[in-house]
Amino acid sequence: MQNFIPRKIYTEEHDMYRQAVRDFAQKEITPHNAEWERNHMVSRESWLKLGEAGFLGIQVPEVYGGLGIEDFRYNMIFTEELGHTGCAGPAVGYPLHNDIVLPYILHYGTEDVKRKWLPKIISGEAILAVAMTEPGAGSDLQGMCATAVDKGDHYVVNGSKTFITNGYLCDLAVVAFKTNPALGAKGISLFLVEAGMKGFSKGKPFDKVGLHAQDTCELFFDNVEIPKTHLLGEEGKGFGYLMTELAQERLVVAQSAISLSEAYLEATIDYTKQRQAFGKPISEFQNTRYKLAELATEITMGRVFMDYCVELHNEGKCDSATASMAKYKLTDLQCKVADECVQLHGGYGYMWEYLVGRGFADARVQRIYAGTNEIMKELISRKVMA
Ligand SMILES: Cc1cc2nc3c(=O)[nH]c(=O)nc-3n(C[C@H](O)[C@H](O)[C@H](O)COP(=O)(O)OP(=O)(O)OC[C@H]3O[C@@H](n4cnc5c(N)ncnc54)[C@H](O)[C@@H]3O)c2cc1C
Repeated sequence: MQNFIPRKIYTEEHDMYRQAVRDFAQKEITPHNAEWERNHMVSRESWLKLGEAGFLGIQVPEVYGGLGIEDFRYNMIFTEELGHTGCAGPAVGYPLHNDIVLPYILHYGTEDVKRKWLPKIISGEAILAVAMTEPGAGSDLQGMCATAVDKGDHYVVNGSKTFITNGYLCDLAVVAFKTNPALGAKGISLFLVEAGMKGFSKGKPFDKVGLHAQDTCELFFDNVEIPKTHLLGEEGKGFGYLMTELAQERLVVAQSAISLSEAYLEATIDYTKQRQAFGKPISEFQNTRYKLAELATEITMGRVFMDYCVELHNEGKCDSATASMAKYKLTDLQCKVADECVQLHGGYGYMWEYLVGRGFADARVQRIYAGTNEIMKELISRKVMA
């Protein structure tokens, strides 16, 4: 992937890791994406391969079988290189496991849970999901209705969640329930729910506009008995945990957005050099060159800000507003880049077999999940107006 200015935050070791991810993706992801899109999910085998190659849960301490790598730049390289494949389903689902759900288990899981689940999370035997959204509550999470009732030695949970990434394949889900509905945000707690628990069921993967290789679905809870050891952290603190962890989630989405944008641009530069019109390659029209120059400029500015956020986050200094800026601006940019790249492809850009056609459909949801971009502006404005 062409960078228009030097990257400053990565070392030679990072570059070696990047090459390993790139090689893996070329062999194990890109060739399978079309089949996964038809199946509405990646294969279970692909998760095991990722585990075998050492790309899952690298931050897990060695005592639980991980590599104990706490340098977040490695996690971001993984997301970036998946983005560069242009295969948005895997580029969203795999990092969600590593960098969005796993932190809840690492930060708030009991010792028993960690010993049982972390080795499987690293090997790819256990796939993770996080379930907050409900049919009636998305942006307004405090309005959720699913409940967990304390029955002494266990909880009983009821309700449903929707639009859950990795939902169909997940073996373990972090799920938000109300333990005290009268208390609003302070009545929300997080639990681990295992696939196979009696009363826990999954819907079929949704037929989405894009992200076809992603198994997004509903989850249903009908009097599911959850052991007390599956409460994450303390009762009533779930909303606070979500707010803390969501900053990293937004950086992951922003990283996928800028990386996928880079993939669309590269594919379009190649295409315009080959496609002929009026007896010459369309790359020779001034409009084409100016459009590509504009996109390259905006992408470069986005990349610089992204790298800055990654560095800041690595030092534990990226606040919610800054992560929200990255998520909002780079997902908006991704949609713009996808649209312009479709235009430069002409009719071929509207065909699913072309990366930019798929990208046009895949990009749209990035402005909606992980907090809509309107909610991002709300969070940014709180800092701006403070
Ligand atoms: C493909 C996909 C994958 C997803 N993956 C997951 C997942 O893994 N886990 C999970 O829990 N959820 C997931 N979601 C859900 C996603 O996070 C929600 O869809 C999103 O938060 C928006 O909630 P909503 O759909 O209820 O929309 P609503 O909250 O109903 O919003 C509708 C519109 O109103 C606007 N709006 C709402 N409140 C305000 C406000 N205060 N100020 C200004 N505007 C406002 C919104 O910005 C939006 O434009 C996923 C969704 C999709 C489509």
